[in-house]
Amino acid sequence: MSSSSVRIESRNLDRFDIPDFVFESAPAGIIIMTIDGQIIALNPAGEKLFGYESQELSGKHISFLIPDHAVLKAQEFKRNRPARSARHVVGKSRELTGRNKGDCEFPLHMSIGEFTVRNQSLLMGICHDTTEGYRAIERIRFLSSYDALTGCANRTYLHAHIARSLKELTATGRQLVAVLIYLEGMKEVNVAIGHSIGDKVLCELADRLKRHAHGGDIVARISGAEFVYLSVHPTNNLRPKVLARQLAKRLAEPVLLNGAEFHVKANIGLSVQGCASLNRTPTPDEIISDATVAMFQSSGNEGSAQVFHPTMRETLQREQSLLENLRKAVQDGSFELHYQVQVSLTTERITGMEALLRWHDGDNGMISPDVFIPLAERSGLMRMINDWVLHRACADNKALIDAGVLDVPVAVNISASSFMRENFADIVIGAIKNASIPPNRLELEVTETVAFDDLAKARNHISTLQGRGVLVSIDDFGIGYSSPRTLLELSFNKLKIDRGFIAEVINDAKHQAIVKGYLLLANSMNIPVVAEGVEDQAQLEYLRSQGCDYGQGYLFSKPLPLDRLIRLVLSRKAVAPTLDPAAAA
Ligand code: C2E
Ligand code: MG
Ligand code: MG
Repeated sequence: MSSSSVRIESRNLDRFDIPDFVFESAPAGIIIMTIDGQIIALNPAGEKLFGYESQELSGKHISFLIPDHAVLKAQEFKRNRPARSARHVVGKSRELTGRNKGDCEFPLHMSIGEFTVRNQSLLMGICHDTTEGYRAIERIRFLSSYDALTGCANRTYLHAHIARSLKELTATGRQLVAVLIYLEGMKEVNVAIGHSIGDKVLCELADRLKRHAHGGDIVARISGAEFVYLSVHPTNNLRPKVLARQLAKRLAEPVLLNGAEFHVKANIGLSVQGCASLNRTPTPDEIISDATVAMFQSSGNEGSAQVFHPTMRETLQREQSLLENLRKAVQDGSFELHYQVQVSLTTERITGMEALLRWHDGDNGMISPDVFIPLAERSGLMRMINDWVLHRACADNKALIDAGVLDVPVAVNISASSFMRENFADIVIGAIKNASIPPNRLELEVTETVAFDDLAKARNHISTLQGRGVLVSIDDFGIGYSSPRTLLELSFNKLKIDRGFIAEVINDAKHQAIVKGYLLLANSMNIPVVAEGVEDQAQLEYLRSQGCDYGQGYLFSKPLPLDRLIRLVLSRKAVAPTLDPAAAA
């Protein structure tokens, strides 16, 4: 026997030779066996695959390595073997199940060849463990229908599921509810602490949705922070909204990770398809797009989910063209500030003025702040706008003071999202320095929502700013969430009663009672009060009689551009230094 061959001893076989480079170094497991399946030898790769040494298997039946159900298939080789004496390959490659020494089963790919040694036919099985291959196939199958990060269904699966569900609607008299959920704040989480934590937050929120899903409901992730919860259930007008509220509640709970709390806001829109509404079957794309349009109308507060209605699409289109113009206006700084005076009700002197933003949109004329401010807020433009207002108002006030026209605080409205910025106090102090005005010639008007968002931070910002001499007042008092509590928690230089109360103060006893109550409350806490929206003499007299300190409203003046404000002030001969001490405090 040559040194380049492996000698295999066996009870059944005296000896035979196989070139050793085939047997010893083949990466595949090789089993040599008799035609009856008795194992003669195993190469090193086969020993590794099954965990036995070749000698341990010598004489054992192949069923020892390939359990019964699979051996049945292996035995086909023998049955189908053509009666030929020449060396040839029998049967096809097979997917079988192997069993190793540890008694673990694994998927096995085996191809069997027949060969003859000294007139004795033998079988050679070439074996591969296909576990990894199967895993890869499973993974590919999974990825074609599911999202790798969250394990939710993907867009492809969702579309197929919607299409299937729509077909069944007419037969079952049920309704299909697609709840589109946009998680606002995920971008900020990613930017602030990195994508790996952001991913964990996202997975936790996806798990909450999945935990809610039952009875055939599915959860799909259709883009970075957008999910669709799809449910088919009996027609009932109430259920979609209830479902949306339940989901919003689950998502509103903070996510706790590494000792930190993460909050995201769920903006939710719904598209509801009942079998009655299906005179034309919508496509899955249309259903998701409808739910997205509805989502844009929601404020992100719990319970604010919107159900799609065709008019929403028109509103959205209008808003989008307005938004485009607004973006341009922000870039070009093409806003204007109008100023409305505040007047002491005892002396009738001008004690302050409020800066009110005006935007003249070329296409659409003058747009009310009540329209474009919420839009700017939703699209993230408000911070830039607020900063522009702050700088402009300080600069205009500096001009008024330096010209000796008027020396009073200018009040700037600050939205909660701007106010709650970490560096907000620095921005304000920067604007004051930039304009070179004394800090007490700037007043910031905030609403009760600041207390609602993050009380501790609001308190911190207010005390920092007041510590530097800036005035902070509470605007639109009475229409927020927790009026008296806000006054306990936060310190304000002025309280502005919302103009809705003043408008009814003469004609309606209940409004009168409320205004009286607010005045009593503020007086007893030593907070000066400004009545907003004073339009006539009767209101003025009433407010005066109740000890209200200041008034602002059309009775005194409408908001005016700077040049007209100057004319108004000069005509009233209310030139500085006739300051009311409370306003300048
Ligand atoms: P606000 O801060 O409560 O401002 C007072 C609003 O009442 C102004 O409306 C003013 O024109 C109006 N007003 C004043 N006196 C009377 C009156 O006698 N009768 C009536 N019917 N209305 C009166 P405007 O200018 O349309 O502003 C609406 C809201 O938009 C403001 O309410 C404020 O919340 C917001 N806003 C305006 N400018 C800015 C700004 O620069 N930044 C921010 N964040 N919000 C602003
Ligand atoms: Mg205001
Ligand atoms: Mg107001």
